[in-house]
Amino acid sequence: MQKLFAFYLAVSLLALIAFGSFVPYSPNLQSEIRNPQSAFPNSSSPPWGFFAHKRINRLAVLTLPPEMMVFFKPHIDWLADHAVDPDMRRYASKQEAPRHYIDLDVYGTPPFDQLPRLWIDAMIKYTDVWATTASGDTVQVFGSERPVPENLARSYKDFFFRQLLPRFYKDEFLLDADSLNALLQASGIPLHAQTAFFSEHLSEHGIVPWHLQKMQRDLTEAFRQRNSRRILRLCADMGHYIGDAHVPLHTTSNYNGQKTGQHGIHGFWESRVPELFADEEYDFFVGKPVYIADPANYFWQAVFDSHSMVDSVLTMERNLSRSFPSDRQMCPDLRNGLSVLAPCRDYAAAYQTALQGMMERRMRAAIHAVGSAWYTAWVDAGQPDMTKMDVPISTEDELKEEAEMQKMYGQGKILGRPEEH
Ligand SMILES: [Zn+2]
Repeated sequence: MQKLFAFYLAVSLLALIAFGSFVPYSPNLQSEIRNPQSAFPNSSSPPWGFFAHKRINRLAVLTLPPEMMVFFKPHIDWLADHAVDPDMRRYASKQEAPRHYIDLDVYGTPPFDQLPRLWIDAMIKYTDVWATTASGDTVQVFGSERPVPENLARSYKDFFFRQLLPRFYKDEFLLDADSLNALLQASGIPLHAQTAFFSEHLSEHGIVPWHLQKMQRDLTEAFRQRNSRRILRLCADMGHYIGDAHVPLHTTSNYNGQKTGQHGIHGFWESRVPELFADEEYDFFVGKPVYIADPANYFWQAVFDSHSMVDSVLTMERNLSRSFPSDRQMCPDLRNGLSVLAPCRDYAAAYQTALQGMMERRMRAAIHAVGSAWYTAWVDAGQPDMTKMDVPISTEDELKEEAEMQKMYGQGKILGRPEEH
């Protein structure tokens, strides 16, 4: 990619001189490209990255049984369009970014036995609880330096559920000192907290497989309540996160090839290749959805499968960039009326061939997984009659929230890791 990068710089400079408005394609410039005020003054639609998500949600609808299809088919466009909402929310909330990936490599090597599979267990393991004492010291009560004693595990988990998780979701980090003191006293720990707070270290490396477990529960509950608006919203979001979980580069800290001199490979794999070939060449007949008996295990498996492909994704591109003529790796392309530089069609095709159609396989797996997750939630909710669901109309609050999301997106400032989709 280094050579390729140098080449694209040279071509962009020439093009700038020639066309004036030339925008180079490179994920490192995505924040610039995404900002409609700078690069797309007349458009708020994003240039890259959203194609596959929209396709996955649309095609997942087509896998559903007739009892569900009756509700989903009329909303297929909505589900496709809103497949990208989670990415847009990354401009509005810093909690959003970690839901799209997990840096598995920071936790060692497969089979990652030390990594708790359930969200609550993982949060407990990677959260430190602190207290300030009457003498003004700040001490760690539980956490990396002070593991929770075995005999306290149950009551600590209870404390964690009631006191800590709700605050985490509200982005608050102060704890109720009285509740902590009650736990300490009942456990015979001679410490009295004046104030208490916590810090968690799980989010910084991504939480996609855990977040999907929560989404599965929420979606099941929405089906149970026959809340059609919520069903659609959660289905759209879930399709997105499941899509992300199927992308190898969403499971590594080297997510954009930045550690191996392959900057830009993220968009190349997940955006450019599918955009060029998916509609023309991919076989998207994936069969019926399956019932997922163990969602936690299922989502983890998707992530582990993705992770097992990271090495090929990087190695094949590195080899190809050396053997493929360097002047035929990046090509001008027209996007939203502007010229951009993108990996050439032949180069993308060669990459796809070298990976033996990996992008198609992962997209197919994602579509099947999305259909199966939706189907499973519906079954677990007792197969509610979908013919009797109202057509959802957005509430005032939802419309406001959407307008706010669009606004933040227009301002183009991602909170958290920038180069994920
Ligand atoms: Zn994403």
